[in-house]
Amino acid sequence: MMDKITVTGMVINATPVGDFDKRIVLLTKERGKIAAFAKGARRPKSTLMAGTRPFTFGEFEVYEGRTSYNIMSVNAKNYFDDLSRDVEGACYGFYFLELADYYGRENVDGRETLNLLYQSFRALLKPNLKNILIRRIFELKIMTINGEYPEMYKCIGCGKDKDKFYYSVQSAGLVCEKCMDKRGGLRDINVSTIYTFQYVISSGIEKLYTFDVSDEVMKEFSDIMNKHMKMYIDGEFKSLELIDGISWLK
Ligand SMILES: [Zn+2]
Repeated sequence: MMDKITVTGMVINATPVGDFDKRIVLLTKERGKIAAFAKGARRPKSTLMAGTRPFTFGEFEVYEGRTSYNIMSVNAKNYFDDLSRDVEGACYGFYFLELADYYGRENVDGRETLNLLYQSFRALLKPNLKNILIRRIFELKIMTINGEYPEMYKCIGCGKDKDKFYYSVQSAGLVCEKCMDKRGGLRDINVSTIYTFQYVISSGIEKLYTFDVSDEVMKEFSDIMNKHMKMYIDGEFKSLELIDGISWLK
């Protein structure tokens, strides 16, 4: 018994299968992350060819089989073509897809992550926003959605709000001077950096890409995110190597 359903989502991964088919991974509002088979999608005249590429956002008509989904048609709303024409933007875009894939699960509500991807791709297309800042905001927000964000509102030891804080990498949060002896991996943290973290953690996804930061805050934000992600994320991202390669060229 097969059921036909329509889901709203984005293609976050596509791999060739056999001579003409594709296996794609979709992040959907309704069912979270699902894998689907797109028969004939690599045949030159296939109507599924364009709509099964990574970054495609739209409505997907699928048959739900016993073990997998099969794509019947795609009603694409946005292919994010401009992104695939910009090498650096595309690298960041693929990295965001990889992170969404890492955190994605089937049968959970994928709405927030989907919205985050959509807004982040739009941000990557805006020339006045720095890609490096978009990257850190995306990383922090996807970790926040999945409950793995650092404590940036109060001391992890005593629970109090103080004027002066340090950041503990091991405890993943702020530490006051009284509690600092018991915590490892301490580093200084600027008040503006704390505020940046708080803003990203608490603000709505539509409001995420509306600010800039100083070079000093950018450095701290990047450094803390690198260390925080190393502690929580057990995965390697191919697109990160490309991004680091591009940074070297600059
Ligand atoms: Zn304390």
